[in-house]
Order: sequence, then structure tokens, then C-alpha cells
Amino acid sequence: MQTTLPFINTDHSCDSFEMILFNRNEKRFTVELNSRMTKSWRITKRGSIYIASVPALFNDAPFETKCAMIRWAEILVSSHLSRSKLKQECRTELSDIEKELWTFLKGDAELIRMRQVHQPDKHFRHTFGLKFDLKVQFDQLNDRYFEDQLKSFLRWGQHGSRTSYHTIITDESKEQHHLITIAGLYNHPATPEFALNGVLYHEMLHIAYPPKGGIIRRNVHHREFRQREKEFHHFDKWQTWLRTDAAKLLRQMRHG
Ligand SMILES: [Zn+2]
Repeated sequence: MQTTLPFINTDHSCDSFEMILFNRNEKRFTVELNSRMTKSWRITKRGSIYIASVPALFNDAPFETKCAMIRWAEILVSSHLSRSKLKQECRTELSDIEKELWTFLKGDAELIRMRQVHQPDKHFRHTFGLKFDLKVQFDQLNDRYFEDQLKSFLRWGQHGSRTSYHTIITDESKEQHHLITIAGLYNHPATPEFALNGVLYHEMLHIAYPPKGGIIRRNVHHREFRQREKEFHHFDKWQTWLRTDAAKLLRQMRHG
């Protein structure tokens, strides 16, 4: 899991909603997972606290998508749920986040819901994008950093999506496989190779260094993971690109 967004704190360590709220010292609202909700989310006030109600499948959403949901609630809570009282830049940020959450609900959530892909060999055969072939980049990184030991299916996320993530899928004979989804943001002629390699390397590390801890306190980006992440030879360049050029590129992809 890794992404671009200015509203995302990249120094994260735990990925449940409770832990994200705890780490941000956010006490003004809580997040409730609602299994009847599938296509929308909302925030309401109950007594002195705000409650964000979100579809239960968000529990399995990538870390960055959960952060986006929390940032959405934070913006609205800061104006006591009044959109008209928000400053223009907050309104823009809010609508960007909403687009991201819709993209998740329409597209990637489907895979999380099912986690079952009958014939992954066929389904994920095409790895070509506009500029890069994910398979070619994966093989290079696998050779350079992982002694060719990793295996994973690869696919591009939806156009303009900003979240990349690793997940596990099951095929028709109940065998499990890794699947890496790379955000649509990286599938653009203006994306430099080091940026794509940075995010792909990050997702490959999730395979090589699985989460530590139990289901409740799952630590996805643990210390060992963070140390290995910095071994990527363009790490700083990639991080700078995320903070500067990526946001511009995303705006371009959204508006034209
Ligand atoms: Zn990650």
C-alpha cells in the first residue's frame, strides 16, 4: 500500500480504523462499519460525538483508502458538517477524496468483496500499460532485490486511481496467489520509470515481509519493512515525485 496524496500521512504503522484514529489523536469522531451499507457513507452527530458510518467492506480497504475516509470526516467535522462553511481549498480536497472513495467502491471494492478469481492466469494476463509493462518492471526488481524469489499477478488500477495495493486471491482449485494492483496514476506517459518502480518495489516488499501482529493490531509497515523500503535506489527521488509531480499529474488525468 502506498500512494501519492498530500492528505496522506506516509509514516503509518497500523491499519485498522481504530489505530489510524488513535495514531492521529483524533477523538472528535469514530468510524462505524455498517454491513447494510454498500454504496454510500455518511457522517452524523450523536450527542457530543460525530459518527462516520461506512460500508463494512472498508474494513478490508487498503490503508490509504481508510486514511482518505478519515480525512473526509475530519474536514467535515472541522466545519460542523457544513459544506458551505468550508474554505475553497478544503472543498476541492473533499471532492477529490470523494472521487477516490467512489472509485474504490465501484472498482477495487469488487475484488475485495470476492477475493476469488477463477482463472487468474487468464484474468491478469495483460500487464501492458500506456508506457510500461508491469511484468517487465516486476522481473527487473525481482532480480535486483529479491533473488528472483517473488511471484505475483499484476494489474493496473482504474484510470486516475491513486491507491496501489497488494492482496491475496484464491483460484478455482482454492490455491492462493499474490496480486499487486498499481494505481492508474502510474499508467501515464509522463510517469518516470523510477516512480513506477518505487511503488512496485513497495508492494513487492509486502509479499517478502508480511504484516506482523494479529488481526486487531496488524502492523503492515513495520520497522523491518521501512528499513528495506529505503534500500530502493531511487527512494528519495520517488518520495519527492509523490509530493510534487504526482499531484499535478492526477489533476491532469481527472480533468482531461
Ligand atoms: Zn504498503
